[in-house]
Amino acid sequence: PPLVALRGVGVRFANGTEALAGVDLEVRSGEFLSLLGPSGCGKSTLLRLVAGLIRPSSGEVVFSGGGRPGDIGFVFQDPTLMPWATALANARLPLRLRRVARSEADARAATALAAVGLAGFERAWPRELSGGMRMRVSIARALVTRPSLLLMDEPFAALDEINRHRLNDDLLRLRAESGVTVAFVTHSVFESVYLSSRVAVMAARPGRVVADLPVPAPFPRP
Ligand code: ADP
Ligand code: ADP
Repeated sequence: PPLVALRGVGVRFANGTEALAGVDLEVRSGEFLSLLGPSGCGKSTLLRLVAGLIRPSSGEVVFSGGGRPGDIGFVFQDPTLMPWATALANARLPLRLRRVARSEADARAATALAAVGLAGFERAWPRELSGGMRMRVSIARALVTRPSLLLMDEPFAALDEINRHRLNDDLLRLRAESGVTVAFVTHSVFESVYLSSRVAVMAARPGRVVADLPVPAPFPRP
């Protein structure tokens, strides 16, 4: 069964904005789904439904196992690191909040940082890191709990092109190594084709899914 299934989902906000209408979409285990579409087509709203952060106004969102998904990593456009904490301390925060012992949390945070290309930067402060490196720390923080589902809302939007490509390649490697299920929002056709195994193309007013396509791998991948 899919990890999450949206069936005939509509979202209408209190001010009357119809953010989504009649959306049918499944997120299946192991896939790398991209949501592609213009601003305002409801990509962020769709991601928040998948995360269980908001409820649909019509239709239903069904999570595998019945309940809300237990473990989801969410990466926002802005990395929002704690400036007074090292890369390692930022990455281990979700484990400390779950009362995982300090030594185990440190070991797992170091592994997560290494997975995004930041081995050796454990003691660095956010201000010492580039924009791309800060985004990697935020991805490590989302991965440190080993979520079954990683959701990312335009994680590369604020990055320059070179850092964006580095991160793209890191994510492909991560996916190959961990098999984590990923759904991410992008404005970039290139990122959809290069990174994802499936793309849901969306249109605006009202937000809806107008195409749902498998993506074969047209480029050599790292
Ligand atoms: P996208 O991520 O594709 O840019 P969003 O999901 O953020 O689109 O927004 C879809 C539509 O819903 C937009 O018209 C947006 O202005 C509107 N919207 C988003 N959040 C709210 C909200 N909390 N209240 C009212 N309208 C909202
Ligand atoms: P900015 O985004 O601030 O322009 P850069 O992305 O160019 O900064 O990175 C600053 C420095 O950090 C550069 O010398 C870059 O090569 C280096 N750097 C970036 N990512 C890594 C990494 N994963 N490992 C080692 N060095 C890195």
